[in-house]
Parts: sequence; structure tokens; C-alpha cells
Amino acid sequence: MGSGTQSAQELSAQTDCIFCKIIAGDFNTDFVYQDDYVVAFDDISPQKPVHTLIVPRQHVVNLEDNPDPELLARLFSAASKVAAIKGVAGTGYRIVQNNGKGAGQTVFHLHVHLLGGDPFTENIV
Ligand code: 5GP
Ligand code: ZN
Repeated sequence: MGSGTQSAQELSAQTDCIFCKIIAGDFNTDFVYQDDYVVAFDDISPQKPVHTLIVPRQHVVNLEDNPDPELLARLFSAASKVAAIKGVAGTGYRIVQNNGKGAGQTVFHLHVHLLGGDPFTENIV
């Protein structure tokens, strides 16, 4: 992006990708937080009392898609703001980010899950 023209990949992403559609406003999704680079909205199938997705506006598949490090920093920075907005800052929350089918990624537009609101009883790391 930035050149004023869109690649076939970018156009395809906007057509096929559910998160690109959400970001475009196609479903009138409520954004918990948004800025020029990132949007955040609640997961449709929450696994915790607080389960919010932080998503770059740019269509990037996952960490194997060579995302701009600055964009990754913006995602994490936004996540800490979302934690405060959702009232879990200071109570403990978890960030999860799946890369690839084998890790459980089901939407192939980079995102981090912010999970919290009650205690975590299981640790996988
Ligand atoms: P992944 O498994 O790729 O790490 O996470 C994708 C997440 O997106 C899942 O937790 C799933 O519940 C959520 N999700 C899938 N489709 C939609 C949708 O249309 N709206 C919202 N808000 N969340 C969605
Ligand atoms: Zn997308």
C-alpha cells in the first residue's frame, strides 16, 4: 500500500477476509478501540469474560508474512490500552497470537487475543 494502487493480493484480502470486512465497517461492528493502524473488537465466541481481538488495519496473514516491526509494536501498545478500556489492567490478562493452522489460527489476518476477567487456571507456557 502507499502507492495509491492495490495489489491483487490486497484486493482479494478485502473481498475474502472476514476481518478486512469488519475493519471496512461491513457489519457495523463496535470497535472497543481504534487508531490509524489498529482496530479492536470483541471476539464473537468469547473464551473469557474479556476476550477482545486487536487487529491491524493492514491485511497481514501472521508473523510469517513479514509484518512491519512497527506494526507489531502498535498492536501490543494498543493491547495495553484495550486492557485498560476493558477494566483488566492490573488484574492480569493474557495475550495469545496463533500462527498457522497447526497452532489453531482460523482467521488468516494477523490478530492478537486479549483474554482476562477471571483467573487463569491452566498454563501452557
Ligand atoms: P484464531 O483462531 O485465528 O487465532 O482466532 C480467530 C478468532 O476470531 C476466533 O476466536 C473467532 O471466535 C473470532 N471470529 C471469527 N469470526 C468472527 C467474526 O465474524 N466476528 C468476531 N467478532 N470474531 C470472529
Ligand atoms: Zn484481512
